[in-house]
Amino acid sequence: MAPEPLSPGRDAPGSRRVGVLALQGDFAAHAHALRCLGARVAEIRRPVQLRDIDGLVIPGGESTAFLVLMGDEFAPALREFHARGRPIYGTCAGLILLAREVLGPRQSSLGLIDVTVERNAYGRQRESFEADLDGDLEGGSARLHAVFIRAPRIRRVGPTVRVLASLGQEPVLVRSGPVVVSTFHPELTEHLAVHRYFLGMGATAALTGPSVG
Ligand code: GLN
Repeated sequence: MAPEPLSPGRDAPGSRRVGVLALQGDFAAHAHALRCLGARVAEIRRPVQLRDIDGLVIPGGESTAFLVLMGDEFAPALREFHARGRPIYGTCAGLILLAREVLGPRQSSLGLIDVTVERNAYGRQRESFEADLDGDLEGGSARLHAVFIRAPRIRRVGPTVRVLASLGQEPVLVRSGPVVVSTFHPELTEHLAVHRYFLGMGATAALTGPSVG
């Protein structure tokens, strides 16, 4: 698939307002990708701001730092956001925060998607790598270019979880209800298929409601 133009387009009229959790990590790259697709983007730094958005991206970064910066108030606000069926996309550290179970070492997480992830499971920073993948993004297959940076590995997926892309035999992009997560960073490439898919989840996720993952 041809890469999207990366010049920020004008906000499409009536487009969805999407938040990017902007406490830490590469939130600016996600905001840029979403704006290129015509979304109105808000940087989210306080839980109360979740009331004003239709979907949320939790970016990559360092999940332990996110946990500290989120304090006590973000977790209940994010659970409430999920309970309202609002789409959430977590990349890398964002996936780790959303997972039901985290290993390597164990740490607390929101449990909004029924997967077990192991942190830093490919090794250290210098074991970071890029790969081309075929994604099954409902509307058809899409070629994805994936950047893995100190990435976690998904070690288990629950029965409600659908695999949308794999690297070899391992799931790397999965969805359950309104939550989609990837172990890689599409926002660091010119291939915006995953972000476009996420923006398209708005209507269906609200209709089907959250699946208890
Ligand atoms: N290794 C990081 C963590 O455990 C995630 C890395 C990333 O988001 N690229 O939180």
